[in-house]
Amino acid sequence: MNLDFKDKNTLVRVDFNVPLNDKYEITDDTRIRAALPTIKHIINQGGAVVIMSHLGRPMKKLKPDGSINVEKFTLQHVVSHLSYLLNTAVQFSPETIGKTAMQMAFELKAGEVLLLENTRFEEGEKKGDKDLARRLASLGHNYVNDAFGSAHRAHVSTTTVADFFDKDHKSFGFLMEKELKNANRVLNNPERPLTAIVGGAKVSDKILLLEKLIELADNVLIGGGMAYTFVRAQGGTTGKSLVEEDKIDLAKSLLKKAEADGTKLYLPQDSIIADAFNADANTKTVNSAKIEGEWMGLDIGPKAVAEFSEVIKNSKTILWNGPMGVFEMAAFSEGTKAIAQACAEATKNGAFSLVGGGDSVAAVNQMGLADEVSYVSTGGGAMLELLEGKTLPGVAAIQG
Ligand code: AMP
Repeated sequence: MNLDFKDKNTLVRVDFNVPLNDKYEITDDTRIRAALPTIKHIINQGGAVVIMSHLGRPMKKLKPDGSINVEKFTLQHVVSHLSYLLNTAVQFSPETIGKTAMQMAFELKAGEVLLLENTRFEEGEKKGDKDLARRLASLGHNYVNDAFGSAHRAHVSTTTVADFFDKDHKSFGFLMEKELKNANRVLNNPERPLTAIVGGAKVSDKILLLEKLIELADNVLIGGGMAYTFVRAQGGTTGKSLVEEDKIDLAKSLLKKAEADGTKLYLPQDSIIADAFNADANTKTVNSAKIEGEWMGLDIGPKAVAEFSEVIKNSKTILWNGPMGVFEMAAFSEGTKAIAQACAEATKNGAFSLVGGGDSVAAVNQMGLADEVSYVSTGGGAMLELLEGKTLPGVAAIQG
């Protein structure tokens, strides 16, 4: 953020893709709050801010007549709350780009803030359209990207627009910087032992992540639904547990790869099993490789918790992606809770812990432990791709 902001317009891409209720009220403003330091910094430096963001998927949910459902997807819904959080007036352009947007941007004075309408109202946004990028770029002297959650998309507002600014006029925002710095602490020369905890529903969603982490980490702990495909790969019986039959061979090759790389791969020794996928189902605790009949594994068991926790507490760097069980149901949330607590304890003892991607973030928040780990990522898909070793287009566009 080492740009000259004074008396200039800076075009800032943020992620204001917040959840709204039926009355279009914001139900969780975390993403807006996460962008405030960057916006405030530019204002404090005597600059003006032109904000771009998307909200939802307007092109996927067109009205029956083929037009955009503006009422549902307008960024007007965030204006008053943003204004309240910034403690300053926020102007709103009812178009993303065009004469009105340009005039409003050109008339901005130092310290003023203009929010443009949803970038996804423009057809060219998702296509990386160069002409749209050029027109948007004309609204700012500088470009700052602080939308980490969208950095894996090669869209106009996240990527293409950056081509119209040289390196002295474009930068990451504070949130992006923080996310990249924390991911780097895991990916590049991590303090060892490095333990990766991977859970969630399916192996198929996390193949690249598992491959990368087996190469990188000293220990890989596997929980959640995906563990049972591995249990089957080892010849176990899994009853009605979530198993991807067509990924059993892949699981076998990942087990082999771990052995060849000298990475310790742990599967849950025991599981909490249920006779139905239901919060009130009958449950018992059994060896994970001996799940019979109609029973299914819905959480890791106490022996697995003890073993996983021990590994976590002896680690210097911890990465966690995906819950250990169906944590949305109280009866199957204990494993995830215990792992969150082990991460918190290790962090207290000096380890660096990163919770990145999707439902493990929700779990840590739900358990009130977000402040007890080192960093909780705001970008699900983007963090997952970064950890898989991919270069994110939104990152490359600023660095290139
Ligand atoms: P993911 O988005 O891949 O991280 O998956 C998260 C989802 O996996 C959550 O909704 C969990 O309820 C689900 N999940 C975790 N463990 C299991 C399990 N043993 N069986 C079925 N679903 C699971």
